[in-house]
Amino acid sequence: MNDASATHLLATAREMSAQGLNRGTAGNASVRLPGDAMLITPSGLPWERCEPGDMVRLGPDDAWDGPLKPSSEWRIHRDIYRARPDATAIIHAHSPHATALACHRRPIPSFHYMIARFGGSDIRCAEYRTFGTQALSDAVLAALEGRSACLMANHGMIVIGRDLEHALALAVEFETLCQHYLLACQLGEPVILEAAEMAEVAARFAGYGQAPGSG
Ligand code: 13P
Ligand code: ZN
Repeated sequence: MNDASATHLLATAREMSAQGLNRGTAGNASVRLPGDAMLITPSGLPWERCEPGDMVRLGPDDAWDGPLKPSSEWRIHRDIYRARPDATAIIHAHSPHATALACHRRPIPSFHYMIARFGGSDIRCAEYRTFGTQALSDAVLAALEGRSACLMANHGMIVIGRDLEHALALAVEFETLCQHYLLACQLGEPVILEAAEMAEVAARFAGYGQAPGSG
């Protein structure tokens, strides 16, 4: 167990609750470790009552040691790390606005330029599968192709980042975008940006922020 990583992961998980992304024991978070391993939040425990030592290390053989079981969604986290070299941290949440959209199985179109922040001109919704199953992991991986976030039908959302801070910041941005979309839909269908407009946004994001390419 890497103590610094465990402390950092638990702090990020608690921040998810503080930022209103999660309540109770919904949601989970993980960070990639060297050697095809990861550290993930334990299943079904409120993070306020957890200690860093309660974070669970899963190795390349999918085995974990210690008394606590990893998050029931460990397959999603494992499969994303295997398929996506750009992912170093993952956040899954049942945040209110994303979940409301996911319950309608509604992809999010380019109603706002910030959609491009997640790697394309829309956000997909992964097909519904039972929580904790390999089938759900397969559905999520497909919906994430070329993207850093997706909705999960009748469930919630998932976001991948280059580190824990980045994943948390993207998760907050994503939930905010879902809130904007729900509000905008209350006045009818919002105006959708055209492909050429979104291409310009994507190009601009490539040089956005303090580090080139860090947008
Ligand atoms: P865990 O507590 O097992 O991580 O489950 C929460 C969840 O969100 C399942 O989809
Ligand atoms: Zn969940």
